[in-house]
Amino acid sequence: MSYVERVLEDVKAKNAEQPLFIQAATEILTTLEPVVEAHPEYEENALLERFVEPERIIQFRVPWIDDEGKVQVNRGYRVEFNSAIGPYKGGLRFTPTVTLGMLKFLGFEQILKNSLTTLPMGGGKGGSDFDPKGKSNNEIMRFCQSFMTELSRHIGPDTDVPAGDLGVGGREVAYMFGQYKRLRNEFTGTLTGKGLSFGGSLARTEATGYGLVYMVNEHLNCTGDTMEGKTVVVHGSGNVAIYAVQKVEQLGGKAIAVSDTKGWVRDDEGIDVAALEEIYNRKRSGNDKGVSLALYPELTGRGTYTAGDGRAVWAIPCDIALPCARENTLLLEDAEALVANGCKIVGEGANMPTTLDATEYFQKNGVVFFPGKAANAGGVATSGLEMSQNAEHLSWTFEEVDAKLEGIMKSIYHACDDAAKRYGREGDFVAGANIAGFEKVADAMMAQGVI
Ligand code: NAP
Repeated sequence: MSYVERVLEDVKAKNAEQPLFIQAATEILTTLEPVVEAHPEYEENALLERFVEPERIIQFRVPWIDDEGKVQVNRGYRVEFNSAIGPYKGGLRFTPTVTLGMLKFLGFEQILKNSLTTLPMGGGKGGSDFDPKGKSNNEIMRFCQSFMTELSRHIGPDTDVPAGDLGVGGREVAYMFGQYKRLRNEFTGTLTGKGLSFGGSLARTEATGYGLVYMVNEHLNCTGDTMEGKTVVVHGSGNVAIYAVQKVEQLGGKAIAVSDTKGWVRDDEGIDVAALEEIYNRKRSGNDKGVSLALYPELTGRGTYTAGDGRAVWAIPCDIALPCARENTLLLEDAEALVANGCKIVGEGANMPTTLDATEYFQKNGVVFFPGKAANAGGVATSGLEMSQNAEHLSWTFEEVDAKLEGIMKSIYHACDDAAKRYGREGDFVAGANIAGFEKVADAMMAQGVI
């Protein structure tokens, strides 16, 4: 049994109740085999055993009072996974399905993603099983304040810098920032994704979706092609999806389908971004319950809406597929349909939306596959740029941030491509991303001794 296989066996035995973490660890560690073989000192120093174990996990009670005056209790977490190359950095996720295993999977991926951005950020992730859907504004505020009352003891601009993720947008970040500032009596860049009037960065909202499309576009350009005339199918219609659709359109392509938890829309004229933004904002306003993509035909006068499982979008013929909703939402049968219909490129806007067998199917069938840790790194990269602006007490224009984002996505593309080539895996961007991200972290961990 190889060193990697032994560590993986140990991960499976110790974390049997965390399937998402095991899935991520399996994907990452197996692709690192050639790097680990080339560095016997890693095994001598138990580098992988330390790499798969979070430096610190904080779990806490979050009590809050709902609008009826009843006390509610949720569970809060922060996984501080790896700080070898910088302060822990990663989002907070508020959804009822949050578990420690989910946050460990996301935190583990985040280590490599942050390393790939070229910025000095370690990996972390956190959240709560709190469901913001259907809550009033005051309930959201009371929850966020209670959550931050405990979290504030563990974070700081040079220690751990959280951001938003599913269920945590600008409003939630703002409430948590306000409470952190009140408790610590300091105005620092401890959270990113802040409002523009108190230290937020222009282009952060657009960054993940734009970055995803910049990466796909760089690949097209490097192979003598362009986005012009390409048809794109998108799963999801939230923050990442909306701005991916917008950037596709700006580059001359056409997104023809999007989805949400209730159904999907097909619009062969090209999905209308303004309509998506309106639906997104109404969903999050809290006073417009039951809003869904069903509104799209009414708002635009075109397109068709179908209620049901949004995975149906994967049966629509396209050149490029962008899964931008949630983990494990593109399964083997979806990959088979996409390949059969001529899809050539898949870029993960979400974190781990493609199952392992579906990823393998794409790779065996000549589809160029960009994993989320590289393809959706534009969000955290721009959060890193927000930290830089806060530290320097200045703010850059939208164009400046967008240009830096595009530069970072191009450099991630080439770092993945080069790493894959160096280890004889040309065209394998999964291996390339894992290897390129890991090399920097491993180097820093070795240099810092056994800690
Ligand atoms: P979001 O704004 O909440 O949008 C999520 C979208 O996915 C919504 O359209 C939602 O539908 C849909 N969805 C949620 N759960 C689903 C499920 N189980 N099956 C099918 N569709 C589902 O979230 P986001 O910020 O765009 O993030 C999407 C993904 O990208 C997540 O994996 C996140 O971790 C990852 N990501 C985000 C960023 C960022 O900067 N935002 C950065 C890196 C990675 P409803 O509207 O009906 O709920």
